[in-house]
Amino acid sequence: MKVVIIGGVAAGATAATRLRRLDERAEIVMLDKGPHVSFSNCSLPFRLSGTVDSTGKLVMMTPQAFAARYRIGARVNSEAVAIDRDSRTVRVRNLTDGTEYDESYDKLILSPGARAIVPPIPGVDQADVFTLKTVTDVDRLHTFLTERGVTRVSVVGGGFIGVEAAVNLVEAGYQVSLVEAAPQILNTFDQDMVQILHKALLDHGVNLIVGDQVTRCEGNDLTLASGRVIEGQAVVMAVGIRPDTALAADAGLDVNGRGAILTDASYRTNDPDIYAIGDAIEVTNALTHRPMMLQLAGPAQKQARQVADHICGRAVRNTGYIGSNCIKVFEWNAAGTGLTAAQCEREGLRYDYAYVIPQDKVSLMPDSRPLHVKLIFEVPTGRVLGAQAIGQGDAAKRIDVVATAIKFGAVVDDLRDLELCYAPPFSNAKDPVNVAALVAGNLLGGDYRQTHVDQARALVESGATIIDVREPGAFAKGHLKGAVNIPLTQMRGRLDEIPTDRPVYLNCRSSQTSYNAVRLLQGHGFTNVVNLGGSMLGISLY
Ligand code: FAD
Repeated sequence: MKVVIIGGVAAGATAATRLRRLDERAEIVMLDKGPHVSFSNCSLPFRLSGTVDSTGKLVMMTPQAFAARYRIGARVNSEAVAIDRDSRTVRVRNLTDGTEYDESYDKLILSPGARAIVPPIPGVDQADVFTLKTVTDVDRLHTFLTERGVTRVSVVGGGFIGVEAAVNLVEAGYQVSLVEAAPQILNTFDQDMVQILHKALLDHGVNLIVGDQVTRCEGNDLTLASGRVIEGQAVVMAVGIRPDTALAADAGLDVNGRGAILTDASYRTNDPDIYAIGDAIEVTNALTHRPMMLQLAGPAQKQARQVADHICGRAVRNTGYIGSNCIKVFEWNAAGTGLTAAQCEREGLRYDYAYVIPQDKVSLMPDSRPLHVKLIFEVPTGRVLGAQAIGQGDAAKRIDVVATAIKFGAVVDDLRDLELCYAPPFSNAKDPVNVAALVAGNLLGGDYRQTHVDQARALVESGATIIDVREPGAFAKGHLKGAVNIPLTQMRGRLDEIPTDRPVYLNCRSSQTSYNAVRLLQGHGFTNVVNLGGSMLGISLY
């Protein structure tokens, strides 16, 4: 059997080595049009800060290593320019000398990934514009910045790559502007949660501009739709990527409207001898069962393994994807999985969420920090739909737990009952995941009512009755405009001050003490009391 693989990085290289492990006799050819195979795309931004201290370290395996270890014919600077499905051959152009040849295949795997988009903004051709997709890209950018003595860099696009680029550039000492057309960066986080990351960027001196877009480049200065001008000496363009699939479409393989290759559950295209995997394909969302695009390394590598298995006659199981993701924004760790509340809204799902801010480990530990956790669940079933966690401690560990639970179809009570590791340096006896699930369970059971942190401003402006239940010292340091201070510790003696003719909103630092106050008041017959989820810690960021 001869297998040809087009694209030799995350998905392609994984498919090639798995194939070899399953079939020692197969002939395996892996083509890549770039000068490298098997490099760490995900580490590219870290070259800018020097966390990765040489560009060469980004390359994980050379063609020589593929040949010696796996007897895989990895060919760099080799672009597949056409597929002839009738003769089962790929036309390959050697980009070093311009020659072309045909390579036959029994099975063909397409793992061409995606290209960085450079939008046709007037003047973009005259600017020093860099993308961040390959080792060559980051090397060009790093060399330009250091050799030209650049001090100011503009990053366009607040997705994962843009934000990571901005963070690493700041860490390297550059002054950075980050421009995002949407009202927020990182749309895998909801508006309330992402404010923490907006603040982190601003606190570290990033000139963060959201809700505005670049309309013109004049040299390396950017003019925005608002008329604002951002001065810079280099532009990093990170506005998104598009599947690199012209080759597949030209060969008559089915693609969707955004160019992603369509496959069946075994990643076979409409040609049974051609498979497609990685950033280039459309996948199924395991929660909504709708098609989606997902550009993440983990799914790409899982697909690669499954395709190798399928080619070798093994059964594969494709249960769809939930898009677990994480990012480090300076000292903040942020992670998410499944659907955001905004996505639930768009999907028309009945949902609610718990927003809790417990300490990530026992508060006596010197590095104990608040962890913001948002747990999103379906109403009334309690099915876990998604979660986001942001803090200075281990956010990803919590989201990994929820991601695992979602994969197994968990409801919030399953999360509540999970027995998770605990000792003071690691967590609390009730892990933040358990805490979020407890709150979610209370909400689902109708034990109490909550309103969300994004409603706080409207409540204040409408003159709603807000009672801050913290101690007077904390209240004096800052509170919601118009809030009355009745500490939880005094509440039983001051019940006659609580109105009964209108809703009463209770808040505190993290919404835990106010929850206790809500339960206290309910125990005394008050029915119109509402906890303000997220409370001051959430509001101060919002
Ligand atoms: P790629 O890894 O892009 O490989 C495709 C290869 O195919 C390319 O080398 C290309 O040159 C080659 N090719 C294309 N067309 C042809 C052709 N016609 N002939 C020959 N060769 C061809 N994901 C995460 O999960 N976590 C992260 O932290 C993360 N960080 C990232 C940071 C950056 C800066 C980038 C760029 C990506 C990041 N990703 C991250 C995404 C992740 O790297 C991708 O999802 C993954 O690499 C996709 O694998 P792939 O094999 O489909 O495509």
